[in-house]
Amino acid sequence: MDAKVSNTQYVFSFHDGDGKNKKLLGGKGANLCEMTQMGLNVPPGFVISTEACLAYLDSNDNQLPDGLMAMVKKQMQALEKETGKGFGDAEHPLLVSVRSGSAMSMPGMMDTILNLGLNASTLNGVIKQTGDARFAYDAYRRFIQLFGKVALNIADEAFDSQFEEVKQHVGIKDDVGLRADHLKDISERFLDVVKQHTGQAFPEDPYEQLEIAVQAVFKSWMGKRAVDYRREFNITQDMANGTAVNIVTMVFGNRGNDSATGVAFTRNPATGENKLFGEYLVNAQGEDVVAGIRTPKPIQNMADEMPDLYQQLETLRANLENHYREIQDFEFTIEKGKLYCLQTRNGKMNTTAMVRTSVEMENAGVIDRKQALLRIDPHSLEQMLYPRLDDSELGSTSLAQGLPASPGAACGHIAFDADRAEMLGKQGQRIILVRDETKPEDIHGFFASQGILTSRGGKTSHAAVVARGMGKPCVAGAEGIHVDVQLREAHIGDTVLKEGDLITIDGSSGKVYLGELPMMEAEFTPELETLLQWADEAACLKVMANADTKEDAQRALKYGAMGIGLCRTERMFNTSERLPLVIEMIVAENGEQRQQALDRLLPIQRSDFQGLFETMAPAQVTIRLLDPPIHEFLPSEQQLLSDLDELKHLYSIVRGMEVMVDAEQLVNPAADKARNSIPQRRLTDRIFSDPKSVADTISKKEAMLKKVRMLHEVNPMLGHRGVRLGITFPEIYGMQIRAILEATAECTKKGIEINPQIMVPQVCTASELKRIRSLVDEIQTEVEQQHKVKLEFKFGSMIEVVRACMRADTLAEVADFFSFGTNDLSQATFSFSREDAENKFLPFYNENGILLDNPFEVLDIKGLGKLMKIAVDWGRNTRKDLSVGICGEHGGHPQSIRFCHDIGLDYVSCSAPRVPIARLAAAHAALL
Ligand code: PEP
Ligand code: MG
Repeated sequence: MDAKVSNTQYVFSFHDGDGKNKKLLGGKGANLCEMTQMGLNVPPGFVISTEACLAYLDSNDNQLPDGLMAMVKKQMQALEKETGKGFGDAEHPLLVSVRSGSAMSMPGMMDTILNLGLNASTLNGVIKQTGDARFAYDAYRRFIQLFGKVALNIADEAFDSQFEEVKQHVGIKDDVGLRADHLKDISERFLDVVKQHTGQAFPEDPYEQLEIAVQAVFKSWMGKRAVDYRREFNITQDMANGTAVNIVTMVFGNRGNDSATGVAFTRNPATGENKLFGEYLVNAQGEDVVAGIRTPKPIQNMADEMPDLYQQLETLRANLENHYREIQDFEFTIEKGKLYCLQTRNGKMNTTAMVRTSVEMENAGVIDRKQALLRIDPHSLEQMLYPRLDDSELGSTSLAQGLPASPGAACGHIAFDADRAEMLGKQGQRIILVRDETKPEDIHGFFASQGILTSRGGKTSHAAVVARGMGKPCVAGAEGIHVDVQLREAHIGDTVLKEGDLITIDGSSGKVYLGELPMMEAEFTPELETLLQWADEAACLKVMANADTKEDAQRALKYGAMGIGLCRTERMFNTSERLPLVIEMIVAENGEQRQQALDRLLPIQRSDFQGLFETMAPAQVTIRLLDPPIHEFLPSEQQLLSDLDELKHLYSIVRGMEVMVDAEQLVNPAADKARNSIPQRRLTDRIFSDPKSVADTISKKEAMLKKVRMLHEVNPMLGHRGVRLGITFPEIYGMQIRAILEATAECTKKGIEINPQIMVPQVCTASELKRIRSLVDEIQTEVEQQHKVKLEFKFGSMIEVVRACMRADTLAEVADFFSFGTNDLSQATFSFSREDAENKFLPFYNENGILLDNPFEVLDIKGLGKLMKIAVDWGRNTRKDLSVGICGEHGGHPQSIRFCHDIGLDYVSCSAPRVPIARLAAAHAALL
């Protein structure tokens, strides 16, 4: 078949469709084709391609493409032949489901219609065929509601209220108690609902029903839920464009006690355990399981209840996993003792389970090591770094117990609907979305929430599946909770929870707690250790951590950091004991005063560095000399002015009180004793015990204000900082260099093998670097003589200024290594302030597609990437063995890491918790 013809062939039978072409047939359609062709028991059907959807959406007034319905009719005729039933046939009616499915799995995003083909006459056919009027009316009312909702935009509530009315009228609580005549009544009421809402009778002609349904599925591709979902998960047109429609012969799990329906995973998606996992309901339709209307039973119960079918399910599980070489999430229906597979897709699992299954499948030879690494999205490892409840809290009394549906713990304020969750989330509140059950239209509430809690539904309910996919904690089916959305209250026994109350949920145990419980950092599983070792073996890039203290370094090692790529020395000064010394250094009136402060800082810094070197030995530790503008250590002008204002006010009040006390003595000389006891006097005494104290404080503050004003810069980010500070105040860099080299000498004398690196920030010209290099040389000679050891270390430059990239060849004459500071380099490349852009215009730019990404998060490969490439090439032209790394935030971002690999960097450096992500991303970069 040539490309031209296949472009116009919009409809594909499950017997012929290409199971690998998910883009054309959608994931569901492609898998239905593949399973049919594998010989699995799939109900007969066909797929309308995504191309038909695109043609429909592109047409001026939403017209189905020419000839589509004729092709559909042909396929329906083939289905009639295959099933021996007739579409619209009053004796043996063929009923179908109409299900959406795009190339990327978007759970619950698109709409499905079941039992299509039912009308007054086929309904009778179903009754005759099955001898079960209750079943037939049940199918009919479901069809009318789903069709009404999905195709005719009638809200569920309109149907639900009729349904409840009938239930109340006949005094029945559970749907299963409804008899045929009740369901007939409900169906008739539903037909009236449709008429009232649309002004027209419910369509009777099955082909008309089918055409409307197909259009509705196509339209839902551009519905708010689907668009929001694609935006949130960055699903581009390249990944999924349009939805396919699957037309599948109906099979029924609600034909009695030899029928059932269920959803299952080939392995446990929460833990990865190699055991069939899922839930089923006897005598029910699939939507009952997914919607959480009835609480299903664990799949293992089926081994007793329907042992033969359970065995068949085990065989299906093995067939699916061996074929797809991936954990499958599948839906099945048992109709009168016959098992059908209705859909399969790669199972969405939490990352702990992904990692475990990767290692176990590799060990079992199901997949190779490359696949084991590549099937895990590096970003997703973040899930393994989620906080858990502190162990000491495990015995705490919980408010309610539900199903542990998505692991991790979260704390937040209750919101009872998605809109409020979104609104409060935008105000910066932490939110737990609490619902009876969730539906796809709640998706924006998921995005805004830290965790999800539902009172109904199982581990495969909508809430559970979506939360797991997002890596958010979820407790589902906590049946002790009764949510009253109107009153904005939830009742748990005698406890009443109001909107805004703080609760903690533990998605790993299913427990719900009142208030905020302490959390613990996540730990690595042994499987993650294994996987990351494999990643290190596969990767070319080394992964370092940005760490400023010994404690940071210890944590970084736990995450598998291979060294420290950036120690920001200024962060070492931010403690209450050290800050005064730094301030003294800055405000010193002359060199001598400054040297005194520096002399006190030297031993502190030396021991800091020694601690870092020893912790990381023998790995690289890159120490960056002081970078930020020094006024960052000083109080702000505004703060000083307000302090001075208060002090001066206090001073005049106290002076006034003294006068008052003296005046009182004039009026009543006998009151001398009493006078001492009045509170004002005690205050004045306190303040004037050292009479000069207020005045002194005022003059110190005034001196500081003068200094702050002197150091003020309009644009401090581009001001007196980094190497410019080091050159104008060489004694500051001198102290730091000495501390580094003395720490190196100490370690060397102790026989500890270390790898120190001195890094200069903000360099734009080789002359700057040369000046600092000669300062280093001078101090090196002194320290070597003093300690009688030969010092081994490297000297290098940050590359975070555009000119540094352009002069990389000359910088490499002086530098042993480069490290890209892409935070500043992004700022410089875009001329976007890294302090302000993300809160001001960047969100608008991103939302409106002016910039696709936030350049401070995702490395701008097209622009900044070119500068980096030039710098690497030119630098290495001068010095072949130039080591090059990156230490800006992008060093922990998988897509950016890929680029770093491509241009030949030696290492990336990022914050400690991102190290595992970077290790896996580095392996992906090497393997892809
Ligand atoms: C950078 O600019 O990328 C960098 C690592 O330095 P800092 O963030 O400290 O400016
Ligand atoms: Mg910087």
